[in-house]
Amino acid sequence: MLNIDLHCHSNVSDGTLSPAELARRAAANGVDVWALTDHDEVGGIAEARAAAQDLGMHFVAGVEISITFAGKTVHIVGLDIDEQHPDLHGGLASVREGRVQRGHLIATQLELTGLSNVFEGALKYAENPSLIGRTHFARYLVELGVQPTVSDVFRHYLVEGKPGFVPHRWTTLQEAVSWIRAAGGRAVIAHPGRYAFDQMQFDALLSEFIALGGEGIEVVTGSHTPDQFDAYAALARRTGLLASRGSDFHGPAESRVDLGSLPHLPADLKPVWHDWQL
Ligand code: AMP
Ligand code: MN
Ligand code: MN
Ligand code: MN
Repeated sequence: MLNIDLHCHSNVSDGTLSPAELARRAAANGVDVWALTDHDEVGGIAEARAAAQDLGMHFVAGVEISITFAGKTVHIVGLDIDEQHPDLHGGLASVREGRVQRGHLIATQLELTGLSNVFEGALKYAENPSLIGRTHFARYLVELGVQPTVSDVFRHYLVEGKPGFVPHRWTTLQEAVSWIRAAGGRAVIAHPGRYAFDQMQFDALLSEFIALGGEGIEVVTGSHTPDQFDAYAALARRTGLLASRGSDFHGPAESRVDLGSLPHLPADLKPVWHDWQL
Protein backbone atom coordinates (compact mmCIF):
# COMPACT_ATOMS: atom_id res chain seq x y z
CA MET A 1 0.00 0.00 0.00
CA LEU A 2 1.36 3.43 -0.95
CA ASN A 3 2.38 5.80 1.83
CA ILE A 4 0.69 9.08 0.88
CA ASP A 5 1.22 12.33 2.82
CA LEU A 6 -0.60 15.34 1.40
CA HIS A 7 -0.07 18.07 4.02
CA CYS A 8 3.10 19.65 5.41
CA HIS A 9 4.95 22.95 5.73
CA SER A 10 8.42 24.16 4.76
CA ASN A 11 10.29 27.26 5.90
CA VAL A 12 8.68 29.06 2.96
CA SER A 13 5.73 29.29 5.39
CA ASP A 14 5.91 28.29 9.07
CA GLY A 15 7.79 24.99 8.92
CA THR A 16 11.44 24.78 9.96
CA LEU A 17 12.91 22.66 7.13
CA SER A 18 13.59 23.78 3.57
CA PRO A 19 11.48 22.17 0.82
CA ALA A 20 14.44 19.93 -0.19
CA GLU A 21 15.09 18.89 3.44
CA LEU A 22 11.41 18.01 3.81
CA ALA A 23 11.55 15.93 0.63
CA ARG A 24 14.54 13.99 1.98
CA ARG A 25 12.80 13.39 5.29
CA ALA A 26 9.61 12.24 3.56
CA ALA A 27 11.55 9.82 1.35
CA ALA A 28 13.55 8.50 4.33
CA ASN A 29 10.25 7.86 6.14
CA GLY A 30 8.97 5.81 3.20
CA VAL A 31 6.57 8.33 1.68
CA ASP A 32 5.70 7.41 -1.94
CA VAL A 33 3.37 10.29 -2.80
CA TRP A 34 4.09 13.65 -1.23
CA ALA A 35 2.54 17.13 -1.32
CA LEU A 36 3.99 20.37 -0.01
CA THR A 37 1.14 22.59 1.26
CA ASP A 38 2.63 25.80 2.60
CA HIS A 39 0.26 28.42 4.03
CA ASP A 40 -0.86 30.95 1.39
CA GLU A 41 2.31 30.47 -0.67
CA VAL A 42 3.58 28.32 -3.56
CA GLY A 43 7.17 29.63 -3.55
CA GLY A 44 8.59 26.33 -2.28
CA ILE A 45 7.02 24.10 -4.91
CA ALA A 46 9.74 24.19 -7.56
CA GLU A 47 12.44 23.15 -5.07
CA ALA A 48 10.18 20.50 -3.52
CA ARG A 49 9.25 19.03 -6.90
CA ALA A 50 12.87 18.79 -8.07
CA ALA A 51 13.99 17.17 -4.82
CA ALA A 52 11.05 14.73 -4.80
CA GLN A 53 11.75 13.68 -8.37
CA ASP A 54 15.43 13.04 -7.57
CA LEU A 55 14.32 10.84 -4.68
CA GLY A 56 11.78 8.90 -6.77
CA MET A 57 8.70 10.23 -4.98
CA HIS A 58 5.53 11.20 -6.81
CA PHE A 59 5.14 14.93 -6.12
CA VAL A 60 1.83 16.77 -5.77
CA ALA A 61 1.84 20.58 -5.81
CA GLY A 62 -0.27 21.94 -2.98
CA VAL A 63 -1.17 24.95 -0.86
CA GLU A 64 -3.12 25.59 2.37
CA ILE A 65 -5.24 28.73 2.04
CA SER A 66 -6.42 30.71 5.08
CA ILE A 67 -10.08 31.76 4.85
CA THR A 68 -12.66 33.27 7.18
CA PHE A 69 -16.02 31.53 7.45
CA ALA A 70 -18.72 32.52 9.96
CA GLY A 71 -16.16 34.70 11.75
CA LYS A 72 -13.60 31.93 12.24
CA THR A 73 -10.41 30.92 10.45
CA VAL A 74 -10.65 27.78 8.32
CA HIS A 75 -7.93 26.21 6.18
CA ILE A 76 -8.60 24.95 2.65
CA VAL A 77 -5.96 22.72 1.07
CA GLY A 78 -5.59 22.77 -2.71
CA LEU A 79 -4.00 19.65 -4.23
CA ASP A 80 -2.56 18.97 -7.66
CA ILE A 81 -2.61 22.65 -8.55
CA ASP A 82 -0.84 24.47 -11.36
CA GLU A 83 1.10 26.73 -9.02
CA GLN A 84 1.75 29.21 -11.80
CA HIS A 85 -1.92 29.92 -12.47
CA PRO A 86 -2.49 33.71 -12.36
CA ASP A 87 -5.76 33.55 -10.39
CA LEU A 88 -4.16 31.47 -7.67
CA HIS A 89 -0.97 33.51 -7.74
CA GLY A 90 -2.76 36.85 -7.44
CA GLY A 91 -5.15 35.57 -4.81
CA LEU A 92 -2.38 34.23 -2.60
CA ALA A 93 -0.44 37.50 -2.94
CA SER A 94 -3.44 39.38 -1.56
CA VAL A 95 -3.74 36.96 1.37
CA ARG A 96 -0.06 37.49 2.16
CA GLU A 97 -0.51 41.28 2.20
CA GLY A 98 -3.12 40.81 4.90
CA ARG A 99 -0.68 38.62 6.84
CA VAL A 100 1.97 41.35 6.94
CA GLN A 101 -0.58 43.95 8.10
CA ARG A 102 -1.81 41.56 10.79
CA GLY A 103 1.80 40.90 11.81
CA HIS A 104 2.36 44.56 12.63
CA LEU A 105 -0.83 44.60 14.73
CA ILE A 106 0.23 41.43 16.56
CA ALA A 107 3.59 43.05 17.33
CA THR A 108 1.91 46.19 18.65
CA GLN A 109 -0.38 44.09 20.87
CA LEU A 110 2.53 42.09 22.27
CA GLU A 111 4.51 45.25 22.93
CA LEU A 112 1.70 46.34 25.27
CA THR A 113 2.85 43.49 27.53
CA GLY A 114 6.27 45.16 27.87
CA LEU A 115 8.23 43.48 25.06
CA SER A 116 10.03 45.48 22.38
CA ASN A 117 11.00 45.11 18.71
CA VAL A 118 8.58 42.23 18.39
CA PHE A 119 8.00 42.47 14.62
CA GLU A 120 11.75 42.39 13.92
CA GLY A 121 12.16 39.53 16.39
CA ALA A 122 9.49 37.40 14.71
CA LEU A 123 10.84 38.26 11.29
CA LYS A 124 14.14 36.56 12.17
CA TYR A 125 12.22 33.27 12.16
CA ALA A 126 10.42 33.95 8.86
CA GLU A 127 12.59 32.77 5.97
CA ASN A 128 9.92 34.31 3.76
CA PRO A 129 9.03 37.73 5.24
CA SER A 130 5.75 37.99 3.30
CA LEU A 131 4.54 34.86 5.06
CA ILE A 132 4.96 36.06 8.62
CA GLY A 133 2.58 34.17 10.89
CA ARG A 134 1.76 33.44 14.49
CA THR A 135 4.28 30.57 14.62
CA HIS A 136 7.14 33.03 13.97
CA PHE A 137 5.93 35.23 16.83
CA ALA A 138 5.64 32.14 19.02
CA ARG A 139 9.26 31.16 18.29
CA TYR A 140 10.43 34.64 19.20
CA LEU A 141 8.50 34.54 22.50
CA VAL A 142 10.25 31.24 23.28
CA GLU A 143 13.61 32.88 22.48
CA LEU A 144 12.75 35.66 24.94
CA GLY A 145 11.92 33.10 27.61
CA VAL A 146 8.31 34.29 27.83
CA GLN A 147 7.15 30.66 27.50
CA PRO A 148 9.16 27.42 27.31
CA THR A 149 7.74 26.03 24.04
CA VAL A 150 5.77 27.10 20.98
CA SER A 151 2.76 25.12 22.11
CA ASP A 152 2.86 26.83 25.51
CA VAL A 153 2.85 30.16 23.70
CA PHE A 154 -0.32 29.08 21.88
CA ARG A 155 -1.98 28.40 25.24
CA HIS A 156 -1.20 31.83 26.74
CA TYR A 157 -0.70 34.17 23.77
CA LEU A 158 -1.83 34.73 20.16
CA VAL A 159 -5.22 33.03 20.57
CA GLU A 160 -8.65 34.52 21.24
CA GLY A 161 -8.83 36.21 24.62
CA LYS A 162 -5.03 36.28 25.10
CA PRO A 163 -2.36 38.92 24.44
CA GLY A 164 -1.25 39.16 20.83
CA PHE A 165 -4.54 37.94 19.38
CA VAL A 166 -5.64 40.07 16.44
CA PRO A 167 -8.93 39.22 14.75
CA HIS A 168 -8.30 38.99 11.03
CA ARG A 169 -10.44 38.64 7.94
CA TRP A 170 -8.77 36.23 5.51
CA THR A 171 -10.16 35.53 2.05
CA THR A 172 -13.55 33.84 1.52
CA LEU A 173 -14.39 30.18 1.01
CA GLN A 174 -15.73 31.07 -2.42
CA GLU A 175 -12.49 32.75 -3.53
CA ALA A 176 -10.19 30.06 -2.18
CA VAL A 177 -12.14 27.24 -3.85
CA SER A 178 -12.35 29.20 -7.10
CA TRP A 179 -8.57 29.86 -7.19
CA ILE A 180 -7.83 26.19 -6.54
CA ARG A 181 -10.27 25.05 -9.22
CA ALA A 182 -9.00 27.64 -11.71
CA ALA A 183 -5.52 26.20 -11.13
CA GLY A 184 -6.84 22.72 -11.98
CA GLY A 185 -6.64 21.51 -8.39
CA ARG A 186 -8.90 19.76 -5.92
CA ALA A 187 -10.12 21.64 -2.82
CA VAL A 188 -10.03 19.83 0.54
CA ILE A 189 -11.16 21.07 3.97
CA ALA A 190 -8.09 20.83 6.22
CA HIS A 191 -8.38 19.25 9.70
CA PRO A 192 -12.19 19.67 10.01
CA GLY A 193 -12.01 18.57 13.66
CA ARG A 194 -10.13 21.71 14.67
CA TYR A 195 -12.85 24.31 14.12
CA ALA A 196 -14.95 25.55 17.02
CA PHE A 197 -18.18 25.84 14.99
CA ASP A 198 -21.60 24.88 16.22
CA GLN A 199 -23.41 22.19 14.21
CA MET A 200 -25.34 24.68 12.07
CA GLN A 201 -22.20 26.61 11.12
CA PHE A 202 -20.29 23.42 10.36
CA ASP A 203 -23.14 22.11 8.19
CA ALA A 204 -23.18 25.46 6.37
CA LEU A 205 -19.43 25.20 5.76
CA LEU A 206 -19.86 21.71 4.29
CA SER A 207 -22.83 22.55 2.11
CA GLU A 208 -21.33 25.79 0.77
CA PHE A 209 -18.01 24.04 0.16
CA ILE A 210 -19.72 21.28 -1.83
CA ALA A 211 -21.89 23.77 -3.74
CA LEU A 212 -18.76 25.69 -4.77
CA GLY A 213 -17.13 22.53 -6.13
CA GLY A 214 -15.07 21.55 -3.09
CA GLU A 215 -14.34 17.83 -3.20
CA GLY A 216 -12.54 16.52 -0.13
CA ILE A 217 -11.92 16.57 3.63
CA GLU A 218 -8.93 15.51 5.64
CA VAL A 219 -9.77 12.44 7.70
CA VAL A 220 -6.41 11.16 8.92
CA THR A 221 -4.31 14.20 9.85
CA GLY A 222 -1.73 15.04 12.49
CA SER A 223 -4.23 17.63 13.70
CA HIS A 224 -6.86 14.99 14.59
CA THR A 225 -7.11 12.56 17.48
CA PRO A 226 -7.74 8.87 16.65
CA ASP A 227 -11.40 9.38 17.65
CA GLN A 228 -11.59 12.14 15.08
CA PHE A 229 -10.20 9.81 12.39
CA ASP A 230 -13.37 7.72 12.93
CA ALA A 231 -15.71 10.69 13.17
CA TYR A 232 -14.50 12.30 9.94
CA ALA A 233 -14.34 8.95 8.14
CA ALA A 234 -18.04 8.67 8.95
CA LEU A 235 -18.59 12.19 7.65
CA ALA A 236 -16.80 11.35 4.39
CA ARG A 237 -19.07 8.30 3.97
CA ARG A 238 -22.19 10.33 4.71
CA THR A 239 -21.37 13.27 2.43
CA GLY A 240 -19.50 11.44 -0.35
CA LEU A 241 -16.56 13.81 0.08
CA LEU A 242 -13.17 12.37 -0.92
CA ALA A 243 -10.89 11.55 2.00
CA SER A 244 -7.35 12.85 2.45
CA ARG A 245 -4.37 11.94 4.66
CA GLY A 246 -1.57 14.26 5.73
CA SER A 247 0.75 14.74 8.70
CA ASP A 248 0.62 18.57 8.84
CA PHE A 249 4.32 18.27 9.74
CA HIS A 250 6.03 21.59 10.60
CA GLY A 251 9.45 20.41 11.81
CA PRO A 252 11.20 17.84 14.01
CA ALA A 253 11.19 20.03 17.13
CA GLU A 254 7.58 21.21 16.93
CA SER A 255 5.50 18.41 15.39
CA ARG A 256 4.15 15.40 17.21
CA VAL A 257 3.42 13.55 13.96
CA ASP A 258 6.21 12.93 11.46
CA LEU A 259 5.92 12.79 7.67
CA GLY A 260 4.34 9.56 6.46
CA SER A 261 3.78 8.17 9.94
CA LEU A 262 0.00 8.27 10.36
CA PRO A 263 -2.38 5.30 10.00
CA HIS A 264 -3.76 4.62 6.54
CA LEU A 265 -7.24 5.78 5.54
CA PRO A 266 -10.03 3.29 6.23
CA ALA A 267 -10.11 1.05 3.14
CA ASP A 268 -13.74 1.74 2.19
CA LEU A 269 -13.25 5.51 1.81
CA LYS A 270 -12.78 7.04 -1.63
CA PRO A 271 -9.41 8.82 -1.40
CA VAL A 272 -8.69 12.20 -2.87
CA TRP A 273 -6.04 10.46 -5.05
CA HIS A 274 -8.47 7.83 -6.44
CA ASP A 275 -8.14 9.04 -10.04
CA TRP A 276 -4.47 10.09 -10.00
CA GLN A 277 -1.93 8.18 -12.12
CA LEU A 278 0.26 6.79 -9.33
P1 AMP B 1 -1.46 31.83 11.28
O1 AMP B 1 -1.86 31.23 9.96
O2 AMP B 1 -0.31 32.79 11.14
O3 AMP B 1 -2.61 32.41 12.06
O4 AMP B 1 -0.85 30.67 12.15
C1 AMP B 1 -1.48 29.41 12.21
C2 AMP B 1 -0.42 28.39 12.54
O5 AMP B 1 -0.09 28.48 13.90
C3 AMP B 1 -0.89 26.96 12.32
O6 AMP B 1 -0.72 26.57 11.00
C4 AMP B 1 0.08 26.23 13.24
O7 AMP B 1 1.30 26.04 12.56
C5 AMP B 1 0.29 27.20 14.37
N1 AMP B 1 -0.55 26.87 15.53
C6 AMP B 1 -1.83 27.22 15.76
N2 AMP B 1 -2.26 26.75 16.94
C7 AMP B 1 -1.21 26.08 17.47
C8 AMP B 1 -0.98 25.36 18.69
N3 AMP B 1 -1.96 25.24 19.59
N4 AMP B 1 0.23 24.80 18.89
C9 AMP B 1 1.21 24.93 17.98
N5 AMP B 1 1.06 25.59 16.81
C10 AMP B 1 -0.11 26.16 16.57
MN1 MN C 1 1.29 26.27 10.32
MN1 MN D 1 -3.96 24.29 9.04
MN1 MN E 1 -1.08 22.93 7.84
